[in-house]
Amino acid sequence: MSTTQIAEGLWQIGLGPVNAFLLDSLDSARDKQGELTLIDTGVAKSEEKIVAAIESIGRKATDLKHIIVTHCHPDHSGSLAAMKRKTGAVAYMHRDDAAMVRRGEGKRPMTAAPGLMRKVFFTLFVSFSSGKIEPAVIDREIDDGTELPIAGGLKAIHVPGHCAGQLAFLWPRRRVLFAADACSNMMGLGYSLGYEDFALGQRALSKLVAFDFDAAVFGHGAPITSGAAQKFRQTFAS
Ligand SMILES: [Zn+2]
Ligand SMILES: [Zn+2]
Repeated sequence: MSTTQIAEGLWQIGLGPVNAFLLDSLDSARDKQGELTLIDTGVAKSEEKIVAAIESIGRKATDLKHIIVTHCHPDHSGSLAAMKRKTGAVAYMHRDDAAMVRRGEGKRPMTAAPGLMRKVFFTLFVSFSSGKIEPAVIDREIDDGTELPIAGGLKAIHVPGHCAGQLAFLWPRRRVLFAADACSNMMGLGYSLGYEDFALGQRALSKLVAFDFDAAVFGHGAPITSGAAQKFRQTFAS
């Protein structure tokens, strides 16, 4: 587990093959520290690692007030129920995937994205996962365009394709895009390993390039800390 600061009030928590993110709502002109928000929760049994990450930045688990889950896949929703038990935080998801997580389901049928390496990794890491998760309560359903009053405002962008309820988030205060699994940055900026509907996923990515941001972070792969919107346009503009 490694926790890396990406921007003021933003940390990436490495949880094996997947990243989660911690946001501090602080407004540096006004507060010393603000309430914490977690974006994604890793696979099952990641809760101790996430709490250790929170403590590593000098905070405690009960400072966590919001948990946003970007989509239902078990590497993002797997420790949601456990993190809610530890913190009592409010959970947010897109309604299409909220219904799945409430039933303990974290996967719909998917196929590999184009490219040999993606196919190999998809076969190894995605196709064998059972898709079962511990059911969790989702307190608030969000949709395309929802502006969450968190950390100065987080705008939800519905980007289905990889997953029907896939959300990305724009954080204008720090000019960061949370791309989640709409795409990845593992073998350079590119598609995720698998999609429920690849053509729909491509259309969603061409929607993301309309936004302006400096940094982008991903469920899988390294952050892009500058010039990210331009890289998105070069890679995904149709
Ligand atoms: Zn996913
Ligand atoms: Zn993922």
